[in-house]
Amino acid sequence: MALIVQKYGGTSVGSSERIQAVARRVSRYCAQGHRVVVVVSAMSGETNRLIALARDIQREPDPRELDVVLATGEQVAIGLTAMALQAQGLKARSYTGSQVRILTDSAHTKARIVEIDSQRILNDLREGFVVVVAGFQGVDAENDITTLGRGGSDTTAVALAAALRADEAQIYTDVDGVYTTDPRIVPEARRLDRITFEEMLEMSSLGSKVLQIRSVEFAGKYQVRLRVLSSFEADDREGPGTLITFEEEQVMEQPIISGIAFNRDEAKLTVLGVPDKPGIAYQILGPIADANIDVDMIVQNVGHDGSTDFSFTVNRGEFERARTILEEQVKPHIGAREVSGDPRICKVSVVGMGMRSHVGIASKMFRTLAEEGINIQMISTSEIKISVILDEKYLELAVRVLHKAFELDQIG
Ligand code: ASP
Ligand code: MG
Repeated sequence: MALIVQKYGGTSVGSSERIQAVARRVSRYCAQGHRVVVVVSAMSGETNRLIALARDIQREPDPRELDVVLATGEQVAIGLTAMALQAQGLKARSYTGSQVRILTDSAHTKARIVEIDSQRILNDLREGFVVVVAGFQGVDAENDITTLGRGGSDTTAVALAAALRADEAQIYTDVDGVYTTDPRIVPEARRLDRITFEEMLEMSSLGSKVLQIRSVEFAGKYQVRLRVLSSFEADDREGPGTLITFEEEQVMEQPIISGIAFNRDEAKLTVLGVPDKPGIAYQILGPIADANIDVDMIVQNVGHDGSTDFSFTVNRGEFERARTILEEQVKPHIGAREVSGDPRICKVSVVGMGMRSHVGIASKMFRTLAEEGINIQMISTSEIKISVILDEKYLELAVRVLHKAFELDQIG
């Protein structure tokens, strides 16, 4: 008998039939003697619909009021889910984030959880209730409603699992686990039985959208056992999903590479003819940081003739803003020759713990891309990943050939 937090994403509660299927699954777990806390997202499409509505009224919606609007999506879903559970003959009770008291900071639309009061939930569990909690939302010290950023229900589930000391947080979604890469690009992609937190963090930050990255950080920090699995399997065919493990639990025959991640949302900016002297990197990136634009990869060439080129990547949505800052504030100030940019790039990464103990991964990656005539524009590495920036048109090809070169289509 275990205490399990089950999180159901938007597609898993996308209709009354889907909500009833959730209730049947929960009731099966209860029948086995487990205690279950359910976290739900808004029904699929609902959060987008609410954002569009808000934008109709106000072009840049007021963040506090936007949170008031967005939180309604999950509120509908918890009430309906509790009703469906009651229809299954279970005792069930729903709570919004503020009713639980999921206390967050006041950063509307991207708030962070500060503390969870688990008392009410624990009392209900003791009395035999299934507790249904709204994902994605909380309340700040002023009692204002906050939301945790897109995909935030994952983080709610993991944070609740940590606060309740649950045995496992199960994230139910429309895929049956974490894959070696996106199966829409590589049909031979395989579900991974296990992946380590470190690898999952890289995969999430590099563009794999299975889990919100903050939920993975949270799970790593509080040592929450996390599993991703599908809510679309028939009751008797539910697979094991993918278990996100801590390194110590990882099995010996760990593959060298676990997956290929990619991200289309990148854009590259280059400042050409930059004076090669101290303080230049700061003078270029300082104004970018001041404008709250996140910088990802950075490359500076070795200087010659006292000048050098400086390139970096940003989120594609911030490309124009970053370019304007470089043109207007940076270029005249540091006396650079030219600013150029390319919004049509992508990032492709190979990720794997095995890299730490195996040499030659980078050269294999570069050779594989070279054999296809794919030009690498930028490279960055960490202990467990190698990322390259490529022309966007090579994305599918690069992912496919790398997946094959590292034998990710082969079992074990
Ligand atoms: N409903 C929110 C969203 O669509 C939160 C979530 O689904 O996790 O981003
Ligand atoms: Mg989601």
